[in-house]
This record gives sequence, structure tokens and C-alpha cells, in this order.
Amino acid sequence: MRRVDPERGERLNDPAWMIFDERYRRRYGAPGGSPAGLTTAQTVGALARACRIDEGRLVETVDAFNRNARLGRDPDFHRGLSAYDRFFGDDRRFSALRPWPWLETASHGIVGAVLGPPATRLAARAAESDGDRVRRLAVPVLRRSMAPLFSASVRGVLGPLEHRPYHAIPVRASSLGTCGGPRIDASGRVLDAEGSPIARLYAAGNAAGSPVGGFYGGAGATISAAMTFGFLAGEDAATRR
Ligand SMILES: Cc1cc2nc3c(=O)[nH]c(=O)nc-3n(C[C@H](O)[C@H](O)[C@H](O)COP(=O)(O)OP(=O)(O)OC[C@H]3O[C@@H](n4cnc5c(N)ncnc54)[C@H](O)[C@@H]3O)c2cc1C
Repeated sequence: MRRVDPERGERLNDPAWMIFDERYRRRYGAPGGSPAGLTTAQTVGALARACRIDEGRLVETVDAFNRNARLGRDPDFHRGLSAYDRFFGDDRRFSALRPWPWLETASHGIVGAVLGPPATRLAARAAESDGDRVRRLAVPVLRRSMAPLFSASVRGVLGPLEHRPYHAIPVRASSLGTCGGPRIDASGRVLDAEGSPIARLYAAGNAAGSPVGGFYGGAGATISAAMTFGFLAGEDAATRR
């Protein structure tokens, strides 16, 4: 998705396609509910034609993916190797909690409820004090404490596409957050290189530098920062008229 044509400035793989089979759809639903953009066909080749994707290459890609997925590996993109991938994996067939899938789901919620508040406090400290130091201390501890709980098998992440019909959804590039951008103060005012506010210049959300740098604080962290600083910036601008 990141590849850009240097001359035309257009993304080369936009849209990309999310391809899944009927077994996936029955188990997890179509991603995003039932999007209008869902295309369905009885074979991978017919799906490629319906989406105007190169048929031979899609069939070849899915065959290769399936061969590897059956062995629990993804040599191209290494899906399933990171803790992040496995956190969202479905490892019920291999889990110690196999007979009680609801308990496995509940255990994720309980772990989140126990670890969430201290992790949020640490993220807040990272934002207001020496962020790099807090990250260096916090991340290894969190990683060690959570890893055993979420070290699901790679088979919970990878599965062959072999149950017809097959489905495709176009996926487009969009921005989740930023790692850089202008520094702002507590009122959303943009600061110059010396740290002084620049008159009448405000930034919030993705237009401002992230308060936690390149660290992803978790779901909600970006929208809440955008809303909070958007509100504060608006309030400040109104009082300075
Ligand atoms: C798939 C996805 C899932 C996400 N999930 C979460 C989540 O669960 N929790 C969370 O907290 N965050 C999530 N985010 C991130 C969150 O959506 C963004 O951080 C947030 O929307 C940024 O808000 P914003 O107002 O800064 O920018 P945007 O929401 O991008 O708003 C910018 C607006 O400016 C408009 N615009 C751009 N250029 C111009 C122009 N020249 N003139 C006029 N208008 C212009 C755009 O059309 C857009 O409406 C997700 C993002 C994505 C892409």
C-alpha cells in the first residue's frame, strides 16, 4: 500500500483487496459488517475477474498462500509472528481453554481490565515526562507480562482459503495517526523551534505531532487526543479574538 508512483504520485496498490472464504465469513463475519463493496464468486478465478484483478496471479497467490498456511507459515509477510497479530488471532482449537471459548474471550477482557489502567497511567507519564525512559522501562515489562497470555499458535492467525464461495473487499489507504508534526502546547497552539506559541496557529489530531511519538497508546488514543485538543484549540482561539 505504501508504494507510490514517483512520477504520478499515485499509490500503486490502492485499492488492495482483502480476500477471504465462506468459512471465514461464517466464523467472523465480513470485515466491517456487510459492506456494499463485497464481491462474491464461486472460484478464486471468477472472483479475480469480477474485481478486475489479474486472474492468473490471484489464483497463483492464493494457491501459494494456502500451501504455506496449511504449514502455519507466511514467508512473504510473516503474518502471525508478532504478538500483535496473535493477540487478535483465533487459537481456540489449540488453547487450554478450548472447551470454553466464552472463557477464553472473557480472559482477554479481564487481562485488559487489569493491565489497562496502569498501562494508561504509564502512557500519560510518557507523554509528560521523559517519554523515552518511561517507554524503555514500561514496554519490556508489559511485553513480558502479556506474552504468555497471548502467545497463541500461528494457526490461529493463518488459515487456507478453501471453502467456497470466495469474497473480496477493496481496502484503501488512510491515515491512523502521525509520528511527527508540529509541537503544540496545552491549548493546541503550535510552538516554534524555541518553544514559544506562534500567534493564531493551532493544530490538533493528525495535523499535530503525536503526544506519544511513535508509540501506539491503544484504541481510542488518537480520536480522544484529536477531540480534546481540537476543543481546547477552539476554546483558546475564541477567547483570544
Ligand atoms: C481504519 C482506521 C481505524 C481507526 N481506529 C481508531 C480507533 O479505534 N480509535 C482511535 O482513537 N482512532 C482510530 N483511528 C484514528 C483516527 O480515526 C484518527 O486519528 C482521527 O480521525 C484523526 O482525526 P483528525 O480530525 O485529525 O483527522 P481526520 O479525521 O483525517 O480529518 C481531517 C479532515 O480534513 C479534511 N481535509 C483534508 N484536506 C483538506 C483540505 N485541503 N481542505 C479541506 N478539508 C480537508 C479531510 O477530508 C477530513 O475530513 C483509526 C483510523 C483508521 C484509518
